[in-house]
Amino acid sequence: MPELPEVETTRRGILPALQGQTLQSIIVRNPRLRWPVPADLEAQLAGKRLLDVRRRGKYLLFDFGDVIQLVHLGMSGSLRFVGSDEPALLHDHVDWRFDADTILRLRDPRRFGAVLLTHDGSSHPLLAQLGPEPLTAEFDTAYLYSRCRGRGAAIKQVIMDAHTVVGVGNIYASESLFHAGIRPATAARRLTRPACARLVDAIKRVLEAAIAAGGSSLRDYVHSSGELGYFQLATRVYDREGMPCKVCGTPIRRIVQGQRASFYCPVCQR
Ligand SMILES: [Zn+2]
Repeated sequence: MPELPEVETTRRGILPALQGQTLQSIIVRNPRLRWPVPADLEAQLAGKRLLDVRRRGKYLLFDFGDVIQLVHLGMSGSLRFVGSDEPALLHDHVDWRFDADTILRLRDPRRFGAVLLTHDGSSHPLLAQLGPEPLTAEFDTAYLYSRCRGRGAAIKQVIMDAHTVVGVGNIYASESLFHAGIRPATAARRLTRPACARLVDAIKRVLEAAIAAGGSSLRDYVHSSGELGYFQLATRVYDREGMPCKVCGTPIRRIVQGQRASFYCPVCQR
């Protein structure tokens, strides 16, 4: 599933070619995504200049001035540029044609993605309830500490809750907790202020490293026909059950929380 780093890398990859370009036409081959693609998508957008592509959580916001197109990549979606002579395959559901050389194509085999229109990028129901962006100053120690007060839920589930902070997926949650030295099942209310400081710092560093890893592969996926996959992240604990901790050598443990696997080192994490 594309996570925040993949979505941010996609944004950075497509923005230079699209910013300031006028959208000529749209082809919707299959409108049955997670929600129906608006029937008036082309009528609303064609002829308009794309001013910017922003990101909120895992949503891409294509800013056409008076109207904003929201794109979510769902479980399996990807965006890439294709040549005008490149035939569309079975799962290539939407094309945006800016000019003969600039065609953006959405591929989404599982169709959990979304293409929607809104006039307000902050009050849309899908965006209004989202917590702060993890890489902004708004997500800081005082904020996380306040969110943990009085909460008996496991800290891993608290940081994966988009109401707390957006974009901390399962892999990134396990990795961040390792770097912060906190066990994933620890009740959020037990975190001290210094522990919250370490966790905020770890989340930012883990996500930034993943974005940097994606940036190095940017050219490849934007310009080739390859699909955007998970970035190869050198994980410390994720998916390493029974393997030695890279810091202390103790076998990594696996537990299940909220039906998701969590991994931790019983020595490095307390
Ligand atoms: Zn260890």
